Amino acid sequence: MIQISSNCVGCGKCVSVCPFGALSLVNGKAVASSACTMCGACVSQCPVKALSLPQSTAAAKDLSAYKGVWVFVELLEEKDVLAPRSVSLELLTKGRELANELKEDLCAVVIGKSNAGYFAELASYGADKIYNVEGPGYADYNTEAYANAMITLINKYKPSIVLFPSTYVGRDLSPRISAEIFVGLTADCTGLSIKEGNLIQTRPAFGGNIMADIKCPNHRPQMATVRPNVMPKQVTAPGKTAQVINEPIALSPKASKVRIISKEIEQSQEVEKLDEAKIVISGGRGLKTAEQFEILNEIAAELGGAVGASRAAIDAGWKPKNHQVGQSGVTVKPKLYMACGISGAIQHTVGMQDSDIIIAINKDASAPIFNFCKYGIVGDVHQILPKVLEGIKKAKK
Ligand code: FAD
Ligand code: SF4
Ligand code: SF4
Repeated sequence: MIQISSNCVGCGKCVSVCPFGALSLVNGKAVASSACTMCGACVSQCPVKALSLPQSTAAAKDLSAYKGVWVFVELLEEKDVLAPRSVSLELLTKGRELANELKEDLCAVVIGKSNAGYFAELASYGADKIYNVEGPGYADYNTEAYANAMITLINKYKPSIVLFPSTYVGRDLSPRISAEIFVGLTADCTGLSIKEGNLIQTRPAFGGNIMADIKCPNHRPQMATVRPNVMPKQVTAPGKTAQVINEPIALSPKASKVRIISKEIEQSQEVEKLDEAKIVISGGRGLKTAEQFEILNEIAAELGGAVGASRAAIDAGWKPKNHQVGQSGVTVKPKLYMACGISGAIQHTVGMQDSDIIIAINKDASAPIFNFCKYGIVGDVHQILPKVLEGIKKAKK
């Protein structure tokens, strides 16, 4: 909580600037409530320097004891087979770069039922060490169990950086850990680098209008989540062997609060998940109705790809939210991206512009999407898409 010294003269200037309504005047003196987030906005407003943030705890922490870049490896079940999710390998690739810069180890943390089968792959992506937590109790993701395992490992080994995928699991797990160990967490980073020993966490801010660089110089570990497909994935150490550290961590008693009664993997016409798909066929407002998405489903099914959508199409209720491509949706990087009736607003293109080949269909020749595509077709989607589907079917015969 903000500290208020006896110098306070009760001018009230701090009260009006607090965005959390945490300050009030009581008997002519400023008083802070538990709503204070220690954002610091009030400090510079005080004319008599009566306000200060409690720096001492941060400064007293011995940051030099924290070493190592860690990546939480998420396992994804695909057709009954579990494997490290692609984004985990992207994080290891980036983590290798950061670890080299810091001259520290890159460590993968795997939590699951039985993990030995993944070690070689994780090492080939640069992991020097693998912290392995396994057992039947870890077979399915459980927030309490996984958070307890991660916190136990972090407290024991003291990494300087911990990276998580910005997936449903990563977004659930990482804030739980950061809140328990009292460190910050930067969500949805698009860039990570090292400056003066600190992790610079770059992410869009203010609706994507600026890129903000965030650092946590006084606390360790520095924690961030990164969306799938934002960073390249590369085998950096083929044939390498990592040191495996088995950590038998007993299940947290809190884990039993959640029991998985049954699991249903969403069955959809799309063969692949959107963020991992090699082919993405996306539709926008130009499709006009939800029914018109059916032809995109058919094309995607023929090609073994997934269906995406612009936010306008999602807002219209033509596709569920998890199909949204773009700044506030999923970032994709397929071999082929087809944008059908999508104008190419910046918030959409940031989520697909790194695709290998982009094909756009739009009736407006001046639509910005044509600045991003390799092949552009100016015309009506309702006339062109049936021909595309017919052509694919013929070619497959
Ligand atoms: P429109 O911009 O309306 O474009 C429709 C296009 O279809 C037009 O170019 C038109 O020429 C064409 N068309 C119409 N009829 C036909 C036809 N018969 N045949 C061929 N072409 C036709 N958007 C996203 O997509 N993803 C995001 O994650 C996202 N996040 C956002 C976050 C914020 C903070 C904000 C402010 C906006 C965000 N948006 C996002 C919205 C974004 O700014 C655009 O409004 C949105 O992408 C527009 O969708 P659209 O291209 O489908 O629709
Ligand atoms: Fe309000 Fe921030 Fe000051 Fe706390 S530090 S009292 S939240 S302005
Ligand atoms: Fe007291 Fe300073 Fe707040 Fe004025 S701005 S009420 S002097 S703490």
